[in-house]
Amino acid sequence: MPSKIIVALDFPSSQLALNFVEQVSPQDCALKIGKELFTIGGPELVKKIVNKGFAVFLDLKFHDIPNTVAGACRAAADLGVWMINVHTSGGRKMMETAANQLAQLESPPLLIGVTILTSLSATEIQEVGFSGTPAENVLRLAKLAHHCGLDGVVCSPLEASIVKEATSAQFKLITPGVRPASASLDDQNRVMTPTDAIQAGAHYLVIGRPITASDNPLQSLKAINNEC
Ligand code: C5P
Repeated sequence: MPSKIIVALDFPSSQLALNFVEQVSPQDCALKIGKELFTIGGPELVKKIVNKGFAVFLDLKFHDIPNTVAGACRAAADLGVWMINVHTSGGRKMMETAANQLAQLESPPLLIGVTILTSLSATEIQEVGFSGTPAENVLRLAKLAHHCGLDGVVCSPLEASIVKEATSAQFKLITPGVRPASASLDDQNRVMTPTDAIQAGAHYLVIGRPITASDNPLQSLKAINNEC
């Protein structure tokens, strides 16, 4: 993948997403399809974008019993996507079963774990039964994902350096919450610039609105690529 940028295609229709896709090339960025766009456009839209040559991160954050998640991962892999993800809180057996299922494929997608959602506050994390700080929980879950054979985790750029220290160099860190210094924060609170996120250890940066809502998306993407 020539670029470190994964553009979040958070559009409310397939046509709006495709209008954006027409403006960029697979050398400029990978593309992330999340729950909203997948629910609208389904596997057909995913295949259409994959067939245009883009590396696609199918961000469906699977979390279920091991057999169901392994089957979902297999089905996602069959769409030809580059990266998929599961919730690490689904547990060791769920992650190992998914990783083993994908290992049987000739060219499996990267399997990434979601640690603690960055939208959760410290109080909310305790409310659902986790003790310790958000960073302690992220670190514990990232190490577990690493042991279970996952290829990396999604984490805040603010936690990238501690996760990097505790895992191998090949273990990929995917960080949302990235904003160029000049961009609006939108609803993100804990952000870093692209340069700082990469220095902290991020391999790939998930960026949405600073590119997709820009007057000149291609120019904004190029500027961020130049910064990385
Ligand atoms: O527009 P923006 O750059 O804020 O988009 C960030 C993308 O990353 C969105 O698709 C959002 O759902 C996703 N994301 C996030 N924080 C997480 C996990 C995913 O912002 N912890």
